[in-house]
Amino acid sequence: MKVFKFGGASVKNAEGIINVANIIRNFENEKLLIVISAMGKTTNALEAICNAFFNKTGEAQALSDQLKAQHLEIVTALFEDKNDAIYSEIEDLFAELHWAIEEEQIKSYDYEYDQIVSIGELLSTKIVAAYLNKVGISTLWIDARDVIKTDNTYREGTVDWQETAENSKHYIQSNFDNGATCVLTQGFIGATSENFTTTLGREGSDYSAAILAHCLNATEVNIWKDVPGVLNADPKEFSNAVLLNTLSYYDAIELAYYGATVIHPKTLKPLQNKNIPLRVKSFVNPQLPGTVIQQDDFKQEIPTYIFKKEQVLLSISARDFSFIVEENIRDIFQVFANWRVKANLMQHSALNFSVCITVDPLKFAEFISELSTKFKVKYNHNCTLITIRNYSDTLVNQLTQGKSVLLEQKSRNVIQVVISN
Ligand code: ASP
Ligand code: MG
Repeated sequence: MKVFKFGGASVKNAEGIINVANIIRNFENEKLLIVISAMGKTTNALEAICNAFFNKTGEAQALSDQLKAQHLEIVTALFEDKNDAIYSEIEDLFAELHWAIEEEQIKSYDYEYDQIVSIGELLSTKIVAAYLNKVGISTLWIDARDVIKTDNTYREGTVDWQETAENSKHYIQSNFDNGATCVLTQGFIGATSENFTTTLGREGSDYSAAILAHCLNATEVNIWKDVPGVLNADPKEFSNAVLLNTLSYYDAIELAYYGATVIHPKTLKPLQNKNIPLRVKSFVNPQLPGTVIQQDDFKQEIPTYIFKKEQVLLSISARDFSFIVEENIRDIFQVFANWRVKANLMQHSALNFSVCITVDPLKFAEFISELSTKFKVKYNHNCTLITIRNYSDTLVNQLTQGKSVLLEQKSRNVIQVVISN
């Protein structure tokens, strides 16, 4: 069995969905588990609806009507029969959204966020599954919330692997065993043991595909993208970016962790643990081989450069002039853990700890205030962390020319610099 993941860009309009159906048709003799994200920029739109609801701006319903119109436009292009069941399924999901944003009792932001934002994947999968069935590709729609179980860390659920493995067998494998060839489900979403919806973090559909592949012992995972595979730089910013035909799990994890947005960083571990290859392929040119990521001693020699944007550089020192040693470092990281702040690059001297972080802007002020109870904290917003693997001095100079470098760290193969924009 193979797992195919199609992201938002691949299903952003009716033509996209038709293209996805054509790709799937080429694999008619194989068992496929299809994982789909919300269409186009739907998740951003739902985030805006959630914020409007939470901040009581009064715009939530109008924004929701807009999103409904966009979805209906696509459905209308794909289903000429106005009595097709898909129309009432879309109505039902928007009714659910309507109830969610009418609710007087607002629980935590993160909880409300997951209940609202998860509707994007429910919409896209209902539409794609209905379309596949309509064009003769018999497809079974599964609710990922029955399968992927998490704790109740809303917006970044931690997977309960044992539950998820058992559910995968019960809800998915059993269908393949009974002759199903195409099973389709949502990326990005899961549920707590009490069946409240959770999400796995933005862009988490790749991770969903990997979780399910791991639990079901898939033979491979294909992630279908709008780029030809994994490139050595972001092709939207570097026209001379080159395709990497093959990557080891090790190199791929390092690239994803430092911000190569082509794969979600959590995706590779579950695959590496079961030795399942990951192919990154183009949904525009599906016949091209793309990039394969697998167990490999092959060391990629081509320089790769990754820009991780929207970083904050913190400079932390003790208020009483004490050294930055074990106790202080422990206390700093305790605050990081409390706010789920990700440290991407660290450096310390006797009195100062510098760290480049990714932090949810909604939580930044409270995070800084907790850190400031014990430490003196200075920060620079709007930084970029540049990571160059297999670097040369010429390349480093080229990429940092004219920019103000705030922090630099290098090893034999990798250099990382933080620049202010
Ligand atoms: N729809 C979600 C997002 O945009 C998950 C994903 O696309 O992978 O973040
Ligand atoms: Mg996406």
